[in-house]
Amino acid sequence: RVLLEVKDLKAVVKESGQEILRGVNLTIHEGEVHAIMGKNGSGKSTFSKVLVGHQDYDVTGGSVLFKDQNLLEMEPEERSHVGLFMSFQTPVEIPGVSNFDFLLMAFNARRKNHGLPPVEPLEIEILQQGSKSLAQPMRIFQSGQLLIVKSSFSSSSSSPLHPLFLLSFPILSSLSLLTGMSVYRVSDAGHFYSLVTPKVASLNMNPKFLDRNVNEGFSGGEKKRNEILQLAVLEADLAILDEIDSGLDVDALQDVAKAVNGLLTPNNSALIITHYQRLLEYIIPSYVHIMEDGMIVKTGDVSLAEQLEREGYRGISMS
Ligand code: ADP
Ligand code: MG
Ligand code: MG
Repeated sequence: RVLLEVKDLKAVVKESGQEILRGVNLTIHEGEVHAIMGKNGSGKSTFSKVLVGHQDYDVTGGSVLFKDQNLLEMEPEERSHVGLFMSFQTPVEIPGVSNFDFLLMAFNARRKNHGLPPVEPLEIEILQQGSKSLAQPMRIFQSGQLLIVKSSFSSSSSSPLHPLFLLSFPILSSLSLLTGMSVYRVSDAGHFYSLVTPKVASLNMNPKFLDRNVNEGFSGGEKKRNEILQLAVLEADLAILDEIDSGLDVDALQDVAKAVNGLLTPNNSALIITHYQRLLEYIIPSYVHIMEDGMIVKTGDVSLAEQLEREGYRGISMS
């Protein structure tokens, strides 16, 4: 089944009217991985930004169908809701919003669009607040349960708090008595926290990243991992990954590539934008396209990327 069909897409920079995309043609079927390579400034990022509806550009010609729907008529959020995901070359920072809250909001927005009820961040039961014991605490160390202490808990702050795995309940209990803090039992089943944490682990990310504000103060590599975490949570049908390899060391590159490979199914697709062939050794594309001056000028298989690596763009004759 055709997932994305781009025909003769033309776009200009809104502010200046400068034409960047000069007729892009690209068809992506379910289950395919496409790579777009090309020199700096050839229009790769512009192409992906136009697909997700970035405000800086005006489409001046052509058409884009995504799952048979006219993508160009949709607002950026709608494009995300119908299953398009883009990892930006320069991911944005969102001060004041924790990664966990952001992921939960995005996940629930997607569920709402599919007519599903929102998931709760955590299912928690309060055990003790100060000197008040509110529940039977004795079964708290069953596997799959987390124990949390916090001085206050509001449902709007849905970050995963700070699980104290290592303290036994008697210690927590006396801590609670002394400080007035509350002790919570967290159920592990079917809730967002338990959905996210394995994905965090598979990306070799520190769980503390969930508590931090989105991308704020993250290193380049951490931002890239975080983009893939968003993708993993949202389970998009088409993931556009713009230079996810830039600034990554080999270990991070392998983590990211492994995570992306793990997300690929026969029903979804990826569009990978990269300068370098290195990434395509780990994520094997079905097709490699070369973009030049706002058009796809050549298409081949993975050997085209290898040829580029050997001979440079000059070595490839653009017909
Ligand atoms: P690539 O990702 O292939 O390196 P880009 O799509 O980022 O290329 O840029 C293509 C060309 O369009 C460049 O010349 C760039 O300066 C120009 N361009 C892209 N976006 C803008 C913008 N918002 N304002 C002005 N020029 C832009
Ligand atoms: Mg560039
Ligand atoms: Mg770019």
